Amino acid sequence: MTKVGQENESLVEKDRQHVWHHISAYNEKNPPMIITEGKGAWITDHNGNRYLDGMSGLWCVNVGYGREELAKAAYEQMTKLAYAPLTQSHEPAIGLAEKLNEMLGDEYVFFYSNSGSDANEVAFKLARQYHQQNGESSRYKFISRYRAYHGSSMGALSATGQALRKYKYEPLAPGFLHVAPPDNYRRPAGQSIEEYNIQRAQEFEEKIIWEQKETIAGIIMEPLITGGGVLIPHPVYLEKVQEICQRHGVLLIIDEVICGFGRTGKAFGHQHFNVKPDIITMAKGLTSAYLPLSVTAVRKDIYEKFDTGEQNSHLRHINTFGGNPAACAVALKNLEIIEKESLVERSANLGERLQKELASLKDHPFVGDIRGLGFLLGIELVEDKKTKQPASNARVAKIIGECKANGLIIGRNGDTVAGYNNILALSPPLSCTDEDVDFMI
Ligand code: PLP
Repeated sequence: MTKVGQENESLVEKDRQHVWHHISAYNEKNPPMIITEGKGAWITDHNGNRYLDGMSGLWCVNVGYGREELAKAAYEQMTKLAYAPLTQSHEPAIGLAEKLNEMLGDEYVFFYSNSGSDANEVAFKLARQYHQQNGESSRYKFISRYRAYHGSSMGALSATGQALRKYKYEPLAPGFLHVAPPDNYRRPAGQSIEEYNIQRAQEFEEKIIWEQKETIAGIIMEPLITGGGVLIPHPVYLEKVQEICQRHGVLLIIDEVICGFGRTGKAFGHQHFNVKPDIITMAKGLTSAYLPLSVTAVRKDIYEKFDTGEQNSHLRHINTFGGNPAACAVALKNLEIIEKESLVERSANLGERLQKELASLKDHPFVGDIRGLGFLLGIELVEDKKTKQPASNARVAKIIGECKANGLIIGRNGDTVAGYNNILALSPPLSCTDEDVDFMI
């Protein structure tokens, strides 16, 4: 064996000995990929194999790998001011908040944290406190959807609607309830998509009424379910949910952790719909994952219920790293790149092309549905198009393996317990070249 070959083998062995991988089970026959480099949409593993990263890491490297401007922004900020707690303030945090408000229409105030899970935890805490300070102290419950993922910490996992993610970690936080999301491909025969989506939205109202509306603090949802299988609602759905929230005094929390920053072909996923969220959570594409950072955006009139001068009326949440100056500086530069390179528009255009050119796959006996919004695509695989029986594990794994063997990383989503882990996902960097898209197709 060559020296390089031996070194690589020992790297795999050391990894096996020392690194506990996120969510994935590996064994000797199936070792993890050790990724050593990234440039544009492409990553290289420790054996020198190159792959187009069709998942942007974990749906997060929106501007692609190897951006020197981002490294420079981090370097310059770290050497100027590496850290300041946000019990105080600093210029990059102020600049970023201002920029985000420009994107959202100047109606929000921003609380910084480190991850999508953190941002959702903050949303839950501040929603409860808001209701308390608004004279409705009985409101503490949240409703989300089955198949949704909102994070791994106790509250965010409680809001998550995928049973296998919670299995063996329960009991989690009390007060988290779920309803079914719209799955247009599997809607009942004879029902129009619009009728079906209105009906699914009304399930929130039923839940609110059955649970007693005075106990409901908020509804949390992604604009479209991403990790749970790329489920894109009809526009009436979100509008109806918002109307229900407003009628019952329930806060609408929109989780833009994946959908934000151009992924769906608009700056934010909810901008496809006629809604104005009360709270918006963001992470991933905010820095394109070059540094950890997340944000909980809160409508100004909600923020004004805090810090009223009454004792303990301020939000008593803190984290050490949230809003780190270098992370904020990188986020600002990242947003500048997105703007300068028109990556939001590019996402819409590339996504449209991808969907158009992959449409012929619909004739394939195992392809039940192809759906997408912006540069985010789901391909639902079935065993039988008539019965829509989800494709077997082996079949889905084989396709993913074939793609990898041919240099393309794709994702797999859905909900394992419900048997719907049969959706292939594509969510490549928005900076993909036309040739990258040719390659994927
Ligand atoms: N919300 C959504 C929609 C997500 O997809 C994720 C992560 O994938 C999270 C929240 C949690 O984000 P993080 O992994 O940064 O905690």
